[in-house]
Amino acid sequence: MLTAICGINWGDEGKGKMVDLFSRDYDIVCRYQGGNNAGHTVINERGKFVLNLLPSGILRREVVNVLGNGMVIDVKHLTNEAQKLREKGVEITPENLKISDKAVITMPYHVLLDCLEEERLKDKKFGSTRRGIAPVYADKYMKKAFRMGELFDEKSLKLRAEEIAEWKNLTVERGYGHAPVTAEEILDYLYTFGMIWKDYVTDVGSFLTHANEEGKKILFEAQLGALRDIDFGIYPYTSSSSTIAAYAPIGAGIPGVKLDKCIGIMKAYSSCVGEGPFTAEYFGEKADFLREAGGEYGAATGRPRRVGPFDVVASSYGIRCQGADEVVLTKLDILSAYDEIEVCTAYELDGKIIHEFPSTNELLRAKPVFEKRKGWRADITKCRKKEELPPEAIDYIKFIEDSCKCRLSYVAVGAERDAVIKM
Ligand code: GDP
Repeated sequence: MLTAICGINWGDEGKGKMVDLFSRDYDIVCRYQGGNNAGHTVINERGKFVLNLLPSGILRREVVNVLGNGMVIDVKHLTNEAQKLREKGVEITPENLKISDKAVITMPYHVLLDCLEEERLKDKKFGSTRRGIAPVYADKYMKKAFRMGELFDEKSLKLRAEEIAEWKNLTVERGYGHAPVTAEEILDYLYTFGMIWKDYVTDVGSFLTHANEEGKKILFEAQLGALRDIDFGIYPYTSSSSTIAAYAPIGAGIPGVKLDKCIGIMKAYSSCVGEGPFTAEYFGEKADFLREAGGEYGAATGRPRRVGPFDVVASSYGIRCQGADEVVLTKLDILSAYDEIEVCTAYELDGKIIHEFPSTNELLRAKPVFEKRKGWRADITKCRKKEELPPEAIDYIKFIEDSCKCRLSYVAVGAERDAVIKM
């Protein structure tokens, strides 16, 4: 059984919570793209955890976790993240964590370049998380990145460090006028923070192939959402990796298999971090109210998120991109704060009403068309069955299913692991 869990919107849909819940039925959880630029927040009986690089399955003792080749791994960040989890009693060993030998390493100079470029752009900045993600993916495709499996060949590593330092300084030193990167500091970093993971690095493709042949259940965990995908998202305000479910087998290490199921995670309202078009955006007090109600501050960066009502146009597009067989609607409880709930049902573009998600330049001109739905104004966080929900909440769910042409399999009504309703 091969299942992907992916984001339908701009990320922060609550994927971590759902992977944490669903992982009870899986043997293996794999991250297949991205780095430590986003965070999953998971709250369960063991406490509250913020995971940036580690798959959410790490919180279950019996699950094996994989960091796939599609990822970019900041080994220092990984070391710190693991340390924090271990302090809370989470076991992380080569038995329950396997790191692809083909995964690429995010270096300090990638973080540096990310910051230098954002500073150069000033008010035109992209709103990068400044974790070095775009520079490291660029290097991957330039074939100038270090991979995890390279760490253990001392002689060739030294040679590559020298070549890469020389090449990097064409931009770091000559381009941005910053102090140069040296081969010594590259090697020092890789030995200090990379070597720690030596026993965890393996041919993940072979491990997953055998596991799949043995009938093990594998869950692929995405970071961010469809609208941040490098190809299908709001380019150039996207992430630098493919957040799409179809990429999961490739980024995990078993490109030849087909997914059995894709579960899309979609939020009952909208949130978006960073720059770029966000058509349904609320401003001022309206935004503050929803941001506070939903606790919309970045898990990785603490940045206040931009917020707005549920967007039918963007969400329908996200569902289509992900090929979601079923959808989980999260954070429905947050909408309990409203007498009337707004939803964005269409966009107005150059005087015309449109229902298809347009290109980025058109999006920047598009205006939202809002409709109002009746709210329920009652605490639903204790509801565990559909029948326990107020009729207005059931109407809202039905409206979303009809307008987005999707099937909602679960609705989440709280941050805790068990705060879900099977539909
Ligand atoms: P992810 O990156 O998609 O995992 O999303 P985040 O972890 O950044 O954001 C989701 C946040 O909402 C986390 O703090 C979760 O604990 C919380 N959360 C998830 N589902 C629900 C829900 O149904 N209700 C409420 N109130 N919080 C939720």
